[in-house]
Amino acid sequence: MTDLTSMTIAEAKAGLANKSFTSLELTDAHLAAIEAARALNAFILETPDQARAMARAIDAKIAKGEGGPLAGIPLGIKDLFATKDVRTTACSKILGNFVPPYESTVTSQLWRDGAVMLGKLNNDEFAMGSSNETSCFGPVVNPWRREGSNTTLVPGGSSGGSASAVAALLCMGATATDTGGSIRQPAAFTATVGVKPTYGRCSRWGIVAFASSLDQAGPIARTTRDAAILMRSMAGHDPKDTTSVDRAVPDYEAAIGKSVKGMKIGIPKEYRLDGMPAEIEKLWSEGAAWLKAAGAELVDVSLPHTKYALPAYYIVAPAEASSNLARYDGVRYGLRVPGRSIGELYENTRAEGFGDEVRRRVMIGTYVLSAGYYDAYYLRAQKVRTLIKKDFEDCFAKGVNAILTPATPSAAFGVGEKGGADPVEMYLNDIFTVTVNMAGLPGIAVPAGKDAQGLPLGLQLIGRPFDEETLFSLGEVVEQSAGRFTPPRWW
Ligand code: GLN
Repeated sequence: MTDLTSMTIAEAKAGLANKSFTSLELTDAHLAAIEAARALNAFILETPDQARAMARAIDAKIAKGEGGPLAGIPLGIKDLFATKDVRTTACSKILGNFVPPYESTVTSQLWRDGAVMLGKLNNDEFAMGSSNETSCFGPVVNPWRREGSNTTLVPGGSSGGSASAVAALLCMGATATDTGGSIRQPAAFTATVGVKPTYGRCSRWGIVAFASSLDQAGPIARTTRDAAILMRSMAGHDPKDTTSVDRAVPDYEAAIGKSVKGMKIGIPKEYRLDGMPAEIEKLWSEGAAWLKAAGAELVDVSLPHTKYALPAYYIVAPAEASSNLARYDGVRYGLRVPGRSIGELYENTRAEGFGDEVRRRVMIGTYVLSAGYYDAYYLRAQKVRTLIKKDFEDCFAKGVNAILTPATPSAAFGVGEKGGADPVEMYLNDIFTVTVNMAGLPGIAVPAGKDAQGLPLGLQLIGRPFDEETLFSLGEVVEQSAGRFTPPRWW
């Protein structure tokens, strides 16, 4: 579209401040881009009237010299975030017509700071998936294609709509959530920057729950700086979420461009997988070399329990999901399929409302929590989780500031290509990301290069608890070294 959609948030803030354009113009440019990109299926609900009303209101404030740190910036919102008076479905048929009478804390903070909502973004149903193919609204299309091919690729998941929309210049940034990799993996598949904050950094209040001990909200943006700007507004203590932490929110943007000299960067040997594509190996060494050139010190580290992370995650996450999803019964809100008894109403509603992957998780979760299997599966997985966390703690105790890994084991794949016969094939996408959720740590995915077919690849940096600032400083070094990547427009 026009130039107004290709700016970064930082650039747009400057342009709004010096009156080069208004928020209404910026918003209109993005609304037009969204309309022209419906083939991507990134937005499942466009809210143009609301967007223009918000933009006009903020323009009036800007004219008076008011307006917060995100004044006039148009954003997309993952459909997992409750938005007051705006349909919120988690991309599940079971919530099909739900219009929340309240606003999630994270989105309310974005509006407090002056951002403009363009609409709601597609995601995997209840955020369960790695390709955005489980959404009841259908798959999201990745704006990236293999060179010389028009095969439709997935944008990753579950925040596929967020990643695709940000990469395709439909919004300047987006909210996303990450339970096992859902911010970082789609960011890596679309050459965007995704941040999964420390558990407790952002409030979970008003976000549709998947696995409450793992879920965190975070931003997807086009640059590390933009991600830092968004994070500052999204983070903060919320008395309505008892797991949110009462700690001052730093000015994350100040960490951009800070020297990383003398920082110790851990390279974990357990992330060097058998059969990992040579391109990923190469990207990883390149990333390490960039950090070294910027003055960081590379150290080999060991995270010995890494291999148990994925199996343990696929016990803990479904267990919590099966409990969280018990509330969808057709009685209070969403879909209701009648039956001859209340029991039958529950059964009919849940059978009709949940998709296959969600049903699989509910069944696995119910099984691992059942009286006969609780100790063997759930309790064991919790113990493994503690060991995974301890691996990281041991590493940080030795002075390591952050850990560098690939973000994903491959580049984006084709729609329908993975997980059909074997769900584990899909689950393996999160092999490098789930450890971070299990340990409650912050992680960032930054675009770092392309594969031989021209598809983007990302690197991940994992930090100490509540040390997102170090990740922003290091992420900026990777971004400056790798350059930025934008998909050629074909839609
Ligand atoms: N792909 C993982 C899953 O399906 C992670 C999803 C997420 O982070 N929300 O559970």
